[in-house]
Amino acid sequence: MIIKPVNLYIVVPCYNEEAVLRETSKQLLALFEKMRADSLIDSLSRIVFVDDGSYDRTWELISGLAAEYDEIYGIKLAKNAGHQNALFAGLMTVKDSCECVISIDADLQDDINAIPEMISKFNSGCDVVYGVRSDRERDSFFKRFTAVGFYKLMRFLGVNIVYNHADYRLMSARALNALSQFSEVNMFLRGMVPLVGYKSDIVYYSRGERFAGESKYPLRKMLSFAFDGITSFSITPIRMISVIGTVSFLISVVMAVYTLVQKLTGHAGMGWASIMMSIWFIGGMILLSLGLIGEYIGKIYKEVKRRPRYIIEEVKF
Ligand code: UDP
Ligand code: MG
Repeated sequence: MIIKPVNLYIVVPCYNEEAVLRETSKQLLALFEKMRADSLIDSLSRIVFVDDGSYDRTWELISGLAAEYDEIYGIKLAKNAGHQNALFAGLMTVKDSCECVISIDADLQDDINAIPEMISKFNSGCDVVYGVRSDRERDSFFKRFTAVGFYKLMRFLGVNIVYNHADYRLMSARALNALSQFSEVNMFLRGMVPLVGYKSDIVYYSRGERFAGESKYPLRKMLSFAFDGITSFSITPIRMISVIGTVSFLISVVMAVYTLVQKLTGHAGMGWASIMMSIWFIGGMILLSLGLIGEYIGKIYKEVKRRPRYIIEEVKF
């Protein structure tokens, strides 16, 4: 069977990535050349760098590359919108120009040699192909530990996400059009894509180290990303509050009986410790629960405002 070369776009979000852009574009261009020679992709395939409001020379580099190479396009966001929004901006901008899109981080920690396999799965009828890390040997112990914990927690909370899959994936134009109908402002793409529901498959690759520059996901951002993912996709935490509330109520019934018995048998008067403890415990639980509910209300607040998720300032095609 002869397979027609695919019209592929690769979308790369970039935030202060001046240290990696040259090398990244070199590697992607070399891969494009090879894939064109193998008739995997057609000559109209493109690499699209999305500058997510960087304050270093990222946009200068991208415009330079776009001028130099026909295969490279650039999109500049007006300000930093965050990884998920920047990626989404790229996907939505190109979805009507191509057959499928692969998203990948600028630091190429995800092995680009998995791309041909993704395309062949696309050719055999998959609308979504997830890149999944086969190992985490080169991650630090801390990153590995927190990441695995995160995926387990998400599963526990009933969120359907692909284990060890980040944002390295192929999506068909059809799947992207479906994704464009999700209008949420709190974006967590790896939770949203499985909700699209078309036929999907997995490609394994081993994750490398960032070859230059620093991680744009310090611990603070990582935790807030994980928390966002949970509260955008699961109401189990709120339900757990109800469970804790019910359990506390049951305990308080037992305590009431106990107190009464103590009183009637003349042992009252010594209750200081238990009162102190329960005031603190119950007060703490109430505050915690209110805080958690507040988080969800905050999200609703953001959603009802329907602010744009990103604003494009300039496009270099
Ligand atoms: N990124 C972005 N906007 C941000 C933060 C990160 O577009 O506000 C991009 C970044 O340029 C990179 C990708 O998101 O292409 C993943 O970031 P990084 O590799 O630093 O994360 P890590 O691999 O350390 O989790
Ligand atoms: Mg990285």
